[in-house]
Amino acid sequence: MAVALVQERLDSIYGPIEWRPRMIAIDELIFTVLTQNTSDLNAERAYDSLRKVLPTWGHVIEAETAKVAEAIKRGGLSNQKAPRIQQILVEILKRLGHFDLEFLADRPLEEARDWFTSLPGVGPKTAAVVMAFSLKMPAFPVDTHIHRVSKRLGLITENTTADQAHPIMENLIPENERYDMHVLLITHGRQICKARVPQCVRCPLAQECPVSTAK
Ligand code: SF4
Repeated sequence: MAVALVQERLDSIYGPIEWRPRMIAIDELIFTVLTQNTSDLNAERAYDSLRKVLPTWGHVIEAETAKVAEAIKRGGLSNQKAPRIQQILVEILKRLGHFDLEFLADRPLEEARDWFTSLPGVGPKTAAVVMAFSLKMPAFPVDTHIHRVSKRLGLITENTTADQAHPIMENLIPENERYDMHVLLITHGRQICKARVPQCVRCPLAQECPVSTAK
């Protein structure tokens, strides 16, 4: 199915999409690590707790790992995420001597992506989230909703992994449409094209969708 058609139909029910500024890049990066394998709500609670207990990223590096884990325990997998966060911060400090990542917004997309994904434990999704939402770069983050909806619509093949989908989706979607399409597809996945039972009778793409149950 043509991406332009998907965008037009989804925009008719969820649009217009407006850019919403989020956190600065280093904050967004650590927050995104906290969102891994948990809900946004739990990640927000863990992030708020971490900033309260250890208010600067320097404090997080210097703290005992157990203290970081205790601060973020509401986000789950805290014994894995605490050392990972510290390793990321140490590596950034080693590379830059500070935590200001905004300079990456002026770098080519692939260069910035390589910079992020060469950090310990940072994959394509985390990199794309920071680039798209904080640095306003034309990256296309593929989360679980977008991965599912894109497969159902035939934008990617059934066996394409979420990590593999990032460059494929970026090639399919014009740079200036990527943010809007990200928001449209994620909203569609949450509201209509749900994981267990997609609400095809309410879907504006039901006639074209290859797996629609409402034709
Ligand atoms: S027709 Fe059904 S499966 Fe296809 S995109 Fe719409 S809700 Fe999802």
